[in-house]
Amino acid sequence: MTNFNYSLSVLFLLASAVMLKADTVKLQQDYPIKPVPFTAVHLTDQFWAPRIETNRTVTIPFAFEQCEKSGRMDNFERAALALKGEPFANHQPPGYPFDDTDPYKVLEGASYVLAVQPNPELKMYLDKLIAKIAAAQESDGYLYTARTIDPEHPHAWSGHERWLNDPDQSHELYDSGHLFEAAVAHYQATGETNLLNVAIKNANLLCQVFGPGTNQLNHIWPGHEIVEMGLARLYRATGDERYLKLAKFFLDVRGPGGDEYHQSDIKPRDQREAMGHAVRAAYLYSGMADVAAMTGDSSYTTAIDAIWDNVVQKKLYITGGIGAMGSGEAFGPNYFLPNLSAYCETCASVGNDFWNARLFLFHGDARYVDVFERTLYNSLLDGVSLDGKGFFYPNPLESIGKDSRSPWFGCACCPGNITRFLPSLPGYFYAHTDDQVYVNLYASGAADIDLSHNVAVNIQQTTRYPWDGRIHLAVTPKTSDSAASALFTLKLRIPGWARNEAVPSNLYRFADTNSEPVTLTMNGISVPIQLEKGYASITRQWQPGDVVELDLPMPVRRIVADQKVQSDQGRVTLQRGPIVFCLEWPDNQGQVRNLMLSDDEALQAHFEPALLGGVEVIQGNAASLSTSSSNSVVRTTKALTAIPYYAWANRGRGEMTVWIPNSEKTAHVQAQPSIASTSKITLSHPGTNPDAINDQLAPSPASGQINVFFAGSEEPFFHWWPRKGTPEWVQYDFAKPARVSAVEVYWFDDTGRGECRVPQSWRLSYRRNGEWKPVENPGVFGCEMNQFNRTTFAPVETDGLRLELNLQPDWSGGIYEWKVE
Ligand SMILES: [Zn+2]
Repeated sequence: MTNFNYSLSVLFLLASAVMLKADTVKLQQDYPIKPVPFTAVHLTDQFWAPRIETNRTVTIPFAFEQCEKSGRMDNFERAALALKGEPFANHQPPGYPFDDTDPYKVLEGASYVLAVQPNPELKMYLDKLIAKIAAAQESDGYLYTARTIDPEHPHAWSGHERWLNDPDQSHELYDSGHLFEAAVAHYQATGETNLLNVAIKNANLLCQVFGPGTNQLNHIWPGHEIVEMGLARLYRATGDERYLKLAKFFLDVRGPGGDEYHQSDIKPRDQREAMGHAVRAAYLYSGMADVAAMTGDSSYTTAIDAIWDNVVQKKLYITGGIGAMGSGEAFGPNYFLPNLSAYCETCASVGNDFWNARLFLFHGDARYVDVFERTLYNSLLDGVSLDGKGFFYPNPLESIGKDSRSPWFGCACCPGNITRFLPSLPGYFYAHTDDQVYVNLYASGAADIDLSHNVAVNIQQTTRYPWDGRIHLAVTPKTSDSAASALFTLKLRIPGWARNEAVPSNLYRFADTNSEPVTLTMNGISVPIQLEKGYASITRQWQPGDVVELDLPMPVRRIVADQKVQSDQGRVTLQRGPIVFCLEWPDNQGQVRNLMLSDDEALQAHFEPALLGGVEVIQGNAASLSTSSSNSVVRTTKALTAIPYYAWANRGRGEMTVWIPNSEKTAHVQAQPSIASTSKITLSHPGTNPDAINDQLAPSPASGQINVFFAGSEEPFFHWWPRKGTPEWVQYDFAKPARVSAVEVYWFDDTGRGECRVPQSWRLSYRRNGEWKPVENPGVFGCEMNQFNRTTFAPVETDGLRLELNLQPDWSGGIYEWKVE
C-alpha cells in the first residue's frame, strides 16, 4: 500500500469521525417501518428475561473464557507482535481463518449488555480486548490475523495474496463483516469510538480496494456473506455512503461462475430458490434486504421475496430451522426435511430470524413475524442449554440418543451468535411508522416508542406468554405539548397458529380445528377483529389509562406435513401457542421412538414449575410397540409426556422425537435383543460411527425413510471414509456361542452426494478354536444398494463372525446394518 493511499484512508477516517458528531444520521432511504430499539424495550417476563440474564451472567463470560483458552485472543497479540517484528512465545497450530469473528461476536453481545446495564468491569474488559484488536490491525487498515501472524505462511485457506481467495475460503471479508457489526454495537452502547475507528479504517481500506473505479479487485465477491449487512450497518451509523455503495457492489459483483454452495452460481438478483450453505444464504438474503431498503433496488426485493416463498413452502422445518443437510451445511432439495439427520444449524436459525425481521420491516406483514417467532421459540432457542453453557451446532428433530450440547466447538460460530442475538431480542418486539405501532411479540415488560409529530407512547404488557395467550396492554400516549391524548393506530399481531394457519404456506397444517376464538377488547368493550396482513388494528385518540386486552387461546394442536415431506408421513407433531413439543426419554420411561399416538387420543396440557425451568407439558396415552419372541408386534398402553422441543437434551443423552408416529407403519417397533445387537464389534480400521452396524436401525422403504434424491436414508450408518479401495473387515464377537446360518447386510452408498459405494466383493468367516474359516455352501454375497443383501450358509455353531470385503477402487464404503440369524 502506498503512502498516498494510507494518508487518504486517514482523511476518510477523520471525515467519518466528524460525521459521527451528529446525534442521529439521517439516511436518504431506509426500511418503511422502523424497529423499536432493544434499549427502549425492557422485558420483565418469566420466559425471556431470565434467559437474557443467563446470557449476560453465564454465557457471555463463558464464551469469552473459551475464546481465551482456545487462543483466539492470542491471535490478535501474535499479529501485533508480528507487525513489530517480535516473536510470540506460544506457537499453537492455526485454527480457522474466521476465528477472529468469535471474539467479535461475543464483544457485540457484551456491548448490547452494556447498552442497557452499566458494568464498569465488563467495559474495562472490552476496552482491553479492543486494544488487542486495534494493535493487530495493519497500518493501512487490514485486519485478519490468519495472515498477519505469518504473512509468508498464512493459513492454508487464506491464499498468498490478500482477498484473492475470498470467494472460496479465506473469510477475510467475513471477518470484516463481523467486525463492523461489533463496532457499531459497541459505539452505540458506549458512545466510544475505539472499536468503531478500527472498523472504519478497515472499511475505508475495502472501499479503496474493491469496487468499480478502484481498478483493483473489481471481480472479487465475499465467500461467506455478512460484510454486506455489516457495511449497511456501518453506513446507518456513520452516514458514509461509500459503505452502502460497497455493500451493493458486493451483491452486484457476485456470480455467475461460482457455485451453489456459496450462492455464486447465479447472480443474487436472479436467484429464486434457497440454495447452498444455509448460514451464508440467510446472511446474503439479509444483506440484500438492507441494500434494497437503502438504495431502492427492487430487483433484490423481488429475489428475496421469491426465495422466501421457496423456503416457507418447501424448505422450512416445523421448528423454524433451515438447512436440512449436514453435507455442505446446506439447504436440501424441495421437501427434503429429514428429522434424525436434520442439520438446522443454530446460526442458520439466527440468520433466518435476521432475514424475516427485515422482510417484516419491508412489507409490514405478520407472516414474516410468524416465521420469526416459530424459529425463535424452537430451533433457535434449542441452540443453547438451560444453564447457558452448552450449545447445539445442528439441531435435529429426532435422536437415537447420541446428541448432546457441547461447551464449545472448533468452529465456534453458533455460541457467539447466541451471545449476540439474545440481548438484542427486545428489539424485535415492537416497530412503528409515524402513526402506527406494531406489537409483534408478546412478553411482560415496558416499551417507550417515539412516533413522529412529537408523539411518544409507553406500552406496558402483562402476560404469561408463551404459556398463556391472555395479553394485557396498558397504552399511555405522551405528547410534547402535554396534550392528554394522541391519534395513532395500534396493530396487534394475531399469530398464524391462533388463526388455524400452522405456517404461511401449505407445507404444514393443523390436523384438528380450534373453535376457541381470538378476542380483543378496548377498555373492556369487545372490538371486532378485521385482519389486515395478520394484524388487528385499533385506531383512536389514545388516552392515558387506555387498556387493550387480547386473548389468543392455546389449546394443544396436532400438526401434519404436506405429503411431499416423506420423513413426516404417518406422523404428527404437537404445538401449543408458539411452542413445538417433543417426546424425550426421561419423561417416557427411557424410550420414545417406539411410541404411537392415535389421532383420537385426548391430550391435556398443564404447567410444571419445577421441570426444566418451568414448562408446560402435554400428556395423554400412547401405544408402546415392541416385538414379541415370535416376532409379532405387541402393543401396550403407556402414559405419554411431551415437553417443549427447545428444552430437550438438558438431562443427558437419550431418545427424542418431534414427529410422533400416528400409525403402526411408521413407529420404530422396539426390537428384541439379537445375536448381532449383543455382539462386540471390532474393525479393520475404526472408521466413523461403528455402533450403527448393530443398532437395529436400518433404512426401511416402507416407512418412507428412503429419499429419492439421495438414494440414502437418515438412519445411522458406519463408514470407512476417507479410506478408499482398501480391504477391510468387521467382526462380531457374540455374547455367547450360537448356531447361525444366515446374515443380511445393508450397505451404505451415497452415490450423488459422497464418496461411499457398495463394496466390490465380500465374504464371511466363522471362528472355530480361535481360527477363522470361510462359511460353507454360502449363497450369493450381494452388493446391491438400498436393500438388505441376504446370504445363507451351512449352519455352524460359533462364537463369532467376520465379514471381509474389498472396497471398490478409488471409492470408500460403509454399512447401515449387519444382521445375523
Ligand atoms: Zn454456527
